[in-house]
Amino acid sequence: MHVVVRPAQQLWLFLPPRRRREEIVVPYDGSASLGHVVQSLGVPLTEVAPPAVDGAPSEVTRRPHEAAVIELEPPPRPQPLPDGARFLLDVHLGSLARRLRLLGVDTAYDNPADDDELVERAGRERRVLLTQDRGLLMRRTLRAGAYVRGHGADAQLADVLDRFAPPLAPWTRCSACNGELARVPKDEVVDLLEPGTRRCYERFSRCRTCGRVYWRGAHGRRLDAVVADALRTRPS
Ligand SMILES: [Zn+2]
Repeated sequence: MHVVVRPAQQLWLFLPPRRRREEIVVPYDGSASLGHVVQSLGVPLTEVAPPAVDGAPSEVTRRPHEAAVIELEPPPRPQPLPDGARFLLDVHLGSLARRLRLLGVDTAYDNPADDDELVERAGRERRVLLTQDRGLLMRRTLRAGAYVRGHGADAQLADVLDRFAPPLAPWTRCSACNGELARVPKDEVVDLLEPGTRRCYERFSRCRTCGRVYWRGAHGRRLDAVVADALRTRPS
């Protein structure tokens, strides 16, 4: 027995090289669900829209019939987020976490957290788990997750913004702890500042959670550029 799978090219990165083609014939035992067939190819279900079987949308829990033709497409972009743009990042995505926070996106990141804790926390806090670990995305108990494409934080940020189009509110969130920033009068923080900062800046914010003090120059030009880039390239 077999089924025929037609994966969109955007999904080929999940397939072993010999299967990166427009049509794959996959041995099928007649008992596995559609979801199991997809994941056995290496493609997490978080990375596909509901598959079409012989041209009609199908639940991933159903069993395909002999010689069924299964079409796989990535989810639409931007992908709707029923619980809002709230993310949890795995341990390897610390730079991406800081960038998302800089843009005001609610981004949890703990170091270290093991896989079980990550999946459990994402469910409890209704966050989308972002990772480059496909095994993590294939966990049965995971509520919502996404594979982050790209090497390096800039490419990864561009991918997350393109995929989910989260609302942006730059300079409103602490890049260290994800807490919200509140404006604070200069005289309340003046003792915490280096003399150069004290001379050059007038507007300050403080993290409501960890107390860290922020001013626009604190992040340097590099991160100013990240913010400017994100605002310019976001879909309208
Ligand atoms: Zn903080």
